[in-house]
Amino acid sequence: MLDGHCHLVPPWLRAAGSVAWSDSWFATCHGAAHPRFASGQDVVAELDREGGGRAVVFGWPFSDPGLLAEVNDWVAEEVARHPTRLTGLAVVNPASERAASELERCRGIGLVGLGELNADGQGFDLEWVGGLRRALMACSDLGWPAILHCSEPVGHDYAGKGTATPDRLWRLLGPLLEEAQGLRLCLAHLGGGLPLYAHMPEVARLCRGLWFDTAALPYLYSERVLADVARLIGRERICFGTDFPLLRPSRYRTHLEAIPGPDGRDPWLEEATLRWVAG
Ligand SMILES: [Zn+2]
Repeated sequence: MLDGHCHLVPPWLRAAGSVAWSDSWFATCHGAAHPRFASGQDVVAELDREGGGRAVVFGWPFSDPGLLAEVNDWVAEEVARHPTRLTGLAVVNPASERAASELERCRGIGLVGLGELNADGQGFDLEWVGGLRRALMACSDLGWPAILHCSEPVGHDYAGKGTATPDRLWRLLGPLLEEAQGLRLCLAHLGGGLPLYAHMPEVARLCRGLWFDTAALPYLYSERVLADVARLIGRERICFGTDFPLLRPSRYRTHLEAIPGPDGRDPWLEEATLRWVAG
């Protein structure tokens, strides 16, 4: 298994009253009575429960650059403890002056990608100008994968439902794919439903230059959704991601059974996920 979407939060930031709770997106998303947090060891233990494998891990999309750097350091240490099991990405705030230097610093400590970025949580513009453009162009130059949080414009409300919706993504992605050729960008949470518009040929063309992950899918969509998306844009564009510790891999089993691999194997979409992560 290759899980492309796991969040790690350092133990000292979990306790009530820590600086993390002054970040409004973090506080909103962890407002449950018993919020779930994971370390690198927790992710490895969960992988082992499913028979082994690897995971892509990253911190939380805080808006404060100092807090992001602190968490990036810890994520790099967690990855170094489990180098054969974990791959670490860096989270930076594209709106910050420090984003470029933080990306460079993260490369030096062994992180190999960017994300999960979150326009609502971090307060950057979801447009192909300024900070986001600079950060993703840097990613493209480094040959790094990137992942962006996306949300559905319709349906039930929940903590963490943001405004990076398919209409806004459409405006961002045209110029992005034009300029950042070769950028491996994954739109989390099935891109807020963008691939469901792929009956429109121009949307299908756009989607075939991107990846979409399954994170939080069981909370959002019926079990048929992946079969439809695979038919519209290709199974090779769907990455497996759990949003662990929010959801465990086992929760995705019935959704994944709708799209068995060509030979009936690879139930975890490992090949597509690997192409996004490693090129
Ligand atoms: Zn997300």
